[in-house]
Amino acid sequence: MSFATELRCRECHRSYPLQALHACEFCFGPLEVQYDYDALRRHVSRRRIEAGPPSLWRYRDFLPCDADAAIDIGAGFTPLIHAKNLGKVLGLPQLYLKNDTVNPTWSFKDRVVAVAATRARELGFQKLACASTGNLANSVSAHAAAAGMEAIVFIPADLEEGKIVGSSIYGPTLVKVRGNYDAVNRLCAELAGAYNWAFVNVNVRPYYSEGSKTLGFEVAEQLGWRAPDHCVVPIASGSLFIKIRKGLNELARVGLIDEPRTRMSGAQAAGCSPVATAWAERSMNFRPQKPNTIAKSLAIGNPADGYYALVQLRDTNGDCGSVTDDEIVEGMKLLAETEGIFAETAGGVTIASLKQLVERGSIHPDELVVAFITGAGFKTIDAVAGRLKPALEIDASLESFERAYGALAHTGVA
Ligand SMILES: *Cc1c(COP(=O)(O)O)cnc(C)c1O
Ligand SMILES: [Zn+2]
Repeated sequence: MSFATELRCRECHRSYPLQALHACEFCFGPLEVQYDYDALRRHVSRRRIEAGPPSLWRYRDFLPCDADAAIDIGAGFTPLIHAKNLGKVLGLPQLYLKNDTVNPTWSFKDRVVAVAATRARELGFQKLACASTGNLANSVSAHAAAAGMEAIVFIPADLEEGKIVGSSIYGPTLVKVRGNYDAVNRLCAELAGAYNWAFVNVNVRPYYSEGSKTLGFEVAEQLGWRAPDHCVVPIASGSLFIKIRKGLNELARVGLIDEPRTRMSGAQAAGCSPVATAWAERSMNFRPQKPNTIAKSLAIGNPADGYYALVQLRDTNGDCGSVTDDEIVEGMKLLAETEGIFAETAGGVTIASLKQLVERGSIHPDELVVAFITGAGFKTIDAVAGRLKPALEIDASLESFERAYGALAHTGVA
């Protein structure tokens, strides 16, 4: 049982049934799930949510599938941490980190896949597929395994070993495509027409993207039922960025929080920054880019929701960071050394952008800021491995230790 009523075109508002459809037949606008908000308002309460499971399924009433038949490997309800040390470095006393590195396959993609896979099975699909920059492939593979479905996942051929093994372990058909993500995505759009498979981010994308709302729900609940003043979110396709705000808006619409005034800022790698570049040029039309960055999980040169991300930056008085590969590595180290969180390159993009936005005055010291850390560092160890303090190697004796440790003291490192 769900409160979803129909799919609706974002542009011309035509209605469609809740099937595996993603684009309007008349104007090609994206389709979005609509809900019966009056019924929802009567049904939900803070208490009902708080009594739910410690996973994203505590927000079942806001999701477009039957939670009683959920494919649940434990996604969501991740820690929100008051980052006092990093906040001190950046001059933000009210800085919080949403640590989504601790999801079952170590990225926020478990949220979108949990919802998309559950809806896909409900619609009768037996095969789950996706076009992925890496993390999505991991999550689709894991959820398919748990659901007893077959997985066929498509990735760019040059992905990190951690992301490849992180899919293969679950036994999917893993397809490495010689080309970048945008080529993989075009191929999958074609395949979705030829095969009756659920491509989680193509033909069932309206359900997939709803999963990202749960980050907005959780943050509000974890702050004691209030919206943050400012969110900093990494942007690949732009879906996560706009859906976090949709989550906050929905909570207000059913009366669970006050009307959010949350400013939404984005984070991109300079080597793949179509949204940040358009924003800096004060343009609402981004130009597609050819990605070249270590932040491979964000390397989408032609983002599906890029236009809506720009609209949201404008409407919420946000800003968008654009950071170099060196700044990304520094961001990963800063986060680990101050807060004990080892994030992947996308987390480095978020932290480096946060720093950039504070320095340029776009984030104010008195704001309650939430930065979203979306994936774990063990998937991208090559980005930092050669740039960390080397280990001491010693014989198993006190003397050998003291010699090595003493030498460190002389260099002032210890
Ligand atoms: C996919 C991904 C994102 C952003 O996803 P959108 O396509 O913008 O919704 C952010 N961080 C990580 C680690 C990701 O894998
Ligand atoms: Zn339309």
